[in-house]
Amino acid sequence: MAKIFFCIDLGGTNCKIAVFDEEGTIIKSWKTSSKPFSNPENFLSAIKAELLRFEEFKSFSAISIGVPGLISADGVVVVSPNFPEWKELKVKQLIEQEFSCPVYVENDANLFVLGEGFAGSAKEYSSYVGITIGTGIGGGIVIDGRLLKGAKGMAGEIGHMVIHPAGPECGCGNKGCLEAYSSGLAMKRQMLQLTGLELEAIEIYGLAKRGDKKAQKVFEKSAYHLGIGIANIVNILDVPCIVIGGGISSAFDIMEESIRKGFREHTFKIHFDTVKILQSQLKDQSALYGAFSLIEKESS
Ligand SMILES: [Zn+2]
Repeated sequence: MAKIFFCIDLGGTNCKIAVFDEEGTIIKSWKTSSKPFSNPENFLSAIKAELLRFEEFKSFSAISIGVPGLISADGVVVVSPNFPEWKELKVKQLIEQEFSCPVYVENDANLFVLGEGFAGSAKEYSSYVGITIGTGIGGGIVIDGRLLKGAKGMAGEIGHMVIHPAGPECGCGNKGCLEAYSSGLAMKRQMLQLTGLELEAIEIYGLAKRGDKKAQKVFEKSAYHLGIGIANIVNILDVPCIVIGGGISSAFDIMEESIRKGFREHTFKIHFDTVKILQSQLKDQSALYGAFSLIEKESS
């Protein structure tokens, strides 16, 4: 029987699941609410219920799962902002005991980055950085084909790079982080200050596309600061490629020019002339491909 693999991207709101074949092709994928997973008591039965929805195969070779938060090397979710009840949940051990197969657990932003290298915009690069822009900003760093983890597994917290120490307050308690300038939440705040209107980033994008000057200004400013963040990354790591994903990346068309302006004004000419800043190609499936790529990397 051909081998199959279950890959799960457990986000704060939605859980995406894909069944992959050995070649890394998705055979079937579906989406469900993350709510049943949030209670640690029900976590395992929720996983089981989802996997049983794929009835064609009774056995599978591995399960790979992405979760927001800090994950230890032995697959314990130490802390997850989206699943506050999970304190030190032994995700890897629990699933392995239940299904008797290898289980891989990784931070979801890191899986986004691996996915872009496996089948997305960074396919041709062995060193690159991925940035996810949604409500917050996350990211991950791949150098010479390897995901950079750091001493505590916390490397790649790009959203909390300080752009300006006197800048707006960030959710982390610091001031002037990239997340406080360029995240969906930051755009919402900037729009509120400019117009008094409380709009989601997607609505601001719609207005900007229709020519609304204030909405365009919000995107320009956010994108310019993102460009500064990218300059800092490239100045330190000398990566030839940056991939931008997450919900806000669908607005890449109106952000690209300002991103490149911020980048150009804060990096060396040689980087500006050569570094590619690309939009994610895999959209919301990046982390699923990354979960498959993780199985390949860890089992070879
Ligand atoms: Zn911060």
